[in-house]
This record gives sequence, C-alpha cells and structure tokens, in this order.
Amino acid sequence: MLLIPCPWCGPRDEAEFHYGGQAHVAYPDDPAALSDEEWARYLFFRDNPKGRFAERWSHAAGCRRWFTLTRDTSTNTFTNTSAAPEVTA
Ligand SMILES: [Zn+2]
Repeated sequence: MLLIPCPWCGPRDEAEFHYGGQAHVAYPDDPAALSDEEWARYLFFRDNPKGRFAERWSHAAGCRRWFTLTRDTSTNTFTNTSAAPEVTA
C-alpha cells in the first residue's frame, strides 16, 4: 500500500488518487507552428528517471483537488507536496 500525502487531507491510500503524469510540462507557445514530430514529442514523451520526479496527482475520491509532489521513483517516498495554482477564468 502506498500512502500519498494530499496537502489538504493528509496521507491517504493510493486507491483514492488518479495519476496525472509528469509535472511542469509547458504547453507550446505556438502549437500550430509545431511539426507532427514535435507535437507527438509534447504529447507522448515524458521523462522516466530513477530518483526524484515531479508528478501531478488528483485526490479523486477525497477533496478532488490537483497537486504536485516529488516522488523518488526508486523508494516511492514523497517530498515537496504543493497545491496547484488557482485557476481564474
Ligand atoms: Zn485531498
């Protein structure tokens, strides 16, 4: 069992969360200017390090908020939990 530290609810079972992938992947400034290969690289290519890795998580069965945390992929220990920035419309 993996305990994931939600910044609002505290440590909870991994079954309550949805994985959102690598954090800090910037949307292209001019997506129409990208080649098919560049667009595919943006959509599908992510880092796969052994060690510290920033990830997005959603507490889907809890507070339903998104947040970013850093997980050590070799030990599954979490650090640097931070809330997602507020979205303004
Ligand atoms: Zn939560």
